[in-house]
Amino acid sequence: MYFCYLDESGTPQLGAQTSHFILLGMAIPAAAWHQKDRRVNVIKARYGLKDAEIHTGYIARRFPEQEHIANFEKMNPTQRRAAMAQERKNSLIKAAALKTGDRLKSLKKQYAKSADYIHLTHAERTKLLQELADEIGSWNDARLFAEAVDKVTMPPGVDIFEKAFEQVVTRFHTFLTKREGERVKRGGSSTGISVDNQGLLIQDNNQTVAKNITALMRKFHHQGTLWAKVDRIIETPLFVDSSLTSMVQMADLCAYATRRFFENGETDLFDRIIGRFDQAGGRIVGIRHYVGGKNCACKVCAAHRGQKKTK
Ligand SMILES: [Zn+2]
Repeated sequence: MYFCYLDESGTPQLGAQTSHFILLGMAIPAAAWHQKDRRVNVIKARYGLKDAEIHTGYIARRFPEQEHIANFEKMNPTQRRAAMAQERKNSLIKAAALKTGDRLKSLKKQYAKSADYIHLTHAERTKLLQELADEIGSWNDARLFAEAVDKVTMPPGVDIFEKAFEQVVTRFHTFLTKREGERVKRGGSSTGISVDNQGLLIQDNNQTVAKNITALMRKFHHQGTLWAKVDRIIETPLFVDSSLTSMVQMADLCAYATRRFFENGETDLFDRIIGRFDQAGGRIVGIRHYVGGKNCACKVCAAHRGQKKTK
């Protein structure tokens, strides 16, 4: 059986800070879960993050307070944490004095979300994300599936989340179907579906997503559309706590890397994982950049165009 961990990056709403919405699934064989979980934990422990959640968006950003602390690099982790706590306390006092509640609120949120990582310099945090991306890139038995939507190119009235969800789930299902076909071709029994090629969706239990998915599931069940077609996927998506589940955190890293590639042209993390997107006959089929009728020169669109031409 395959577990497919779903995560998103950016928001599906128009007019938000992000131009793209990414929905990504990272599928791994259930039998390989222990080994992969262990390897991720080894990397995390090396950075003093044994029990911490890897929240890529917060790890990747600059911590301006760090840059104000003299000789930060030369301190040990305990000293770094103490210096950062002091620096951040001062920033909060300053923000409170301005009496604009918004600034204070956003600082507090930022500090809480990044508290686990303040003992690492920006260079160390970059290295951590690179190591994790390389680790995922080395998982030959894992597959990535993603829909990257350039939001303004989506026709009005279309539910971006729903479209992306349907695309990713369908691609995961296609992968399972292909594997099942190969199994039968190798002489396996063709009655029933092998449990090896069934799939289960696992999703981070954050409020926004849970609400979106629940509404969608209700619709699918009611209309009997998508789930009737994707019979290799069992159950409805299971929700887990991302702070406790390393694999959801790895899907989060992949979704982040994918969004930064399409939005900002950042290739460092994306290139480390691109080889894991599902391929068929040497063609990349696991990811699509949705740009409507627009011409896009990115390598994912170029690869898709190249495929069409050779058909
Ligand atoms: Zn493109």
